[in-house]
Amino acid sequence: TMTSSHTFQPLLHRIAAEIESMPGRGRPADYIPALAACDPHRFGMAVAELDGTVYGVGDWRQPFSTQSISKVFTLALDLAREGDTLWEHVSREPSGNPFNSLVQLEYENGIPRNPFINAGALVVTDRLHTQTGDAAGTLLEFLRAESGNAELAIDKGVAASESAHGDRNAALGHFMASYGNIGNPVPVLLDQYFRQCSIEASCADLALATGFLARHGIRADGTRLLTQSQAKQVNAIMLTCGTYDAAGDFAYRVGLPGKSGVGGGIIAVVPGHCTLCVWGPGLDERGNSVTGVAALDRFTTLTGLSVF
Ligand code: GLU
Repeated sequence: TMTSSHTFQPLLHRIAAEIESMPGRGRPADYIPALAACDPHRFGMAVAELDGTVYGVGDWRQPFSTQSISKVFTLALDLAREGDTLWEHVSREPSGNPFNSLVQLEYENGIPRNPFINAGALVVTDRLHTQTGDAAGTLLEFLRAESGNAELAIDKGVAASESAHGDRNAALGHFMASYGNIGNPVPVLLDQYFRQCSIEASCADLALATGFLARHGIRADGTRLLTQSQAKQVNAIMLTCGTYDAAGDFAYRVGLPGKSGVGGGIIAVVPGHCTLCVWGPGLDERGNSVTGVAALDRFTTLTGLSVF
């Protein structure tokens, strides 16, 4: 459902105009060519209300590479299936190290710090794959259902590129497997993980798909994915661990649970109220979208909508 006469629409136009005149925009991720080619002047933002009404501005309909944003959904899908057993295999603390770091794994016996650094996301995807037989496919189906967009798909070129540049993730997978913390063959897991990261979706799609976290666990069709407590837990982990090594600064500036990806997208949740997704491919030195964080900062500042 789309309407044009709502209080969010003028606000989005105002924010987009401010973003337009921002001087610095950061640089696109350059570890794979498909991301390096993105134009940092692209910008989109969408807000979805709890009933699925969605508002947007700029490139809000443009699909981009979801990358680490996908980690929120695999976490929710696995938690929904196995519950607290997951926490025996991955912790819930901010890492203080870069997203692809190996260093903490050795002295923490192959148990990653949280589900949003790569090591933790690999554990979650491994477990979801064991539960479902098709982690990336289960994720894609979920995103299609929640966004109402049956055309969401994996970009196979990006997935192949991830795989070709995947030595670090392979190392993380094998290292954790040596501690018995990976159940599937590591190449099978990596294939699932790279496909998961390569799903293309727009701000509109992702704002809608995040709705269950603002609805305390309830999916778009009214059925329950997570208990109210589990939805709270996922939101809390987003707040503390969702924006790489800058979660403190993100909480300070934006004040919402959020999850970023190196494709330049960020999703954010105002529990009980609405969800947001912003996209701007230029990243800061810690991997978060420069325009995306600025836009969310303006949104919570202008509306007063934050968890604080
Ligand atoms: N596919 C990327 C990786 O695993 C995801 C990075 C990200 O968005 O944080 O390296």
